[in-house]
Amino acid sequence: MYELMPLLLFLKDHPLVLGIIAWITLGLLWRIFARKKEIGEGEYGPFTIEIKRIVYSRYHQRCARCRHSENLHIHHTIPRADGGDNRISQLILLCPNHHAKAHDVLRAKGYL
Ligand SMILES: [Zn+2]
Ligand SMILES: [Zn+2]
Repeated sequence: MYELMPLLLFLKDHPLVLGIIAWITLGLLWRIFARKKEIGEGEYGPFTIEIKRIVYSRYHQRCARCRHSENLHIHHTIPRADGGDNRISQLILLCPNHHAKAHDVLRAKGYL
C-alpha cells in the first residue's frame, strides 16, 4: 500500500488526471458489460424461427451460391468443433447441392 501513496497524493493534486483515468476505466467497463450479443451467439442445434427468418431474408430466399430457391438448408460456415455456433454471421443459406458440396469440403478437412 505504501508504494501507492505517492501516486494517490499525485492524483489528489491533479483531479484532471484522476478524471481521465476514471473516464477510461468507465469506458472499458461499459464495453465489457454493454457488449451486444449477436443473435444466436452461443447457441447450437435447432434454429429458432427468428434465426431462420433473418438468414432467409439475408440471402433473399435463395442459395448463396447458385440462387436456387427450393428446399434450402441453413449451413454453419464454422463447424462446432472450431468454435462455431448459431450466430447469424456464421450461417449461410444453401441449396441441397451446394450444402452437400460444403460438407464434402468439411469432410476433406477432417471435420466429419
Ligand atoms: Zn446452390
Ligand atoms: Zn451444413
